[in-house]
Amino acid sequence: MAQKTALVPRLAIIGMGLIGSSIARAAKLKSIAGTVSISDASAVVRARVGELNIADEIYENAADAVKNADLVILCVPVGVMPNVAATIAGSLKTNAILSDVGSVKATIMHEIAPLLRSDIHFIPAHPVAGTEYSGPDAGFAMLFENRWCILTPKDASDGAAVSLLQRFWEGMGSLVETMSAEHHDLVLAITSHVPHLIAYNIVGTAADLETVTQSEVIKFSAGGFRDFTRIASSDPTMWRDVFLNNKDAVLEVLGRFTEDLSALQRMIRWGDGDGLFELFSRTREIRRGIVALGQEKN
Ligand code: NAP
Repeated sequence: MAQKTALVPRLAIIGMGLIGSSIARAAKLKSIAGTVSISDASAVVRARVGELNIADEIYENAADAVKNADLVILCVPVGVMPNVAATIAGSLKTNAILSDVGSVKATIMHEIAPLLRSDIHFIPAHPVAGTEYSGPDAGFAMLFENRWCILTPKDASDGAAVSLLQRFWEGMGSLVETMSAEHHDLVLAITSHVPHLIAYNIVGTAADLETVTQSEVIKFSAGGFRDFTRIASSDPTMWRDVFLNNKDAVLEVLGRFTEDLSALQRMIRWGDGDGLFELFSRTREIRRGIVALGQEKN
């Protein structure tokens, strides 16, 4: 019996950490890709990928990994994406689709697009799925199941290429939505980037408090603080790059956040119990909405 051709005959992944290795695992498990070819800057990661047996071909040079690939996905930190794109640009085959998984979209779009020939279909994407862990051992095939993946094509992007990338992510188990890169960055600033900044800040503040010892902070870390420490243990390189590359949207949301925090401060100072109760009731509804959509877990 003739074998069914995979949606993506040859898939190349550059960067085999949490996200790249999860894509590789899912692509194989679900037969979405025929051959999975990978590259990673780290020799330790490349060796581990070999041990885990989650890629068909492993290359030291990214340019070698992308040769003849139908779809290439950059899974490296946002800050090095343009460098990696410049390295592989000349090796991409005619009509290849180049995509990425970066948590920020506008800067990536503006910096990478000019590096590419006109026959390359560049369609940025962001799977809104992850954990606080990094590296190839942290990945798992079900990471994208029932999680959103946002595509940010240009109006002029090739329809067939966008459709293939959409089917690829649906094959990964994702729900796919399309929006502009700028809108993506604003939405993610409020839903992900500023919450991470708040977590980094509160854990940093607790660590710096002089009147409460570090061992007390760890010993008495009840629900609230403990949840923040999980978020604040996320990869420092990844998150440094997110804030440096989504500066405008993060600063805008942070401005609103600071104003709202001042309002809360005032309510506490003046004993405005009704105001506090009303806000806490509204926020509870948001949590219920997330649970109702099945999006409450990592
Ligand atoms: P990760 O686990 O740290 O993996 C990144 C991998 O890329 C590492 O193995 C790293 O090697 C390698 N790398 C770094 N620079 C490279 C280069 N120039 N060429 C080739 N490989 C290189 O990171 P991740 O969590 O998978 O994140 C990857 C991307 O996904 C980021 O852009 C991030 O914004 C995005 N993202 C992350 C999440 C999440 O929750 N983590 C969710 C959605 C999207 P070294 O270890 O040697 O540096």
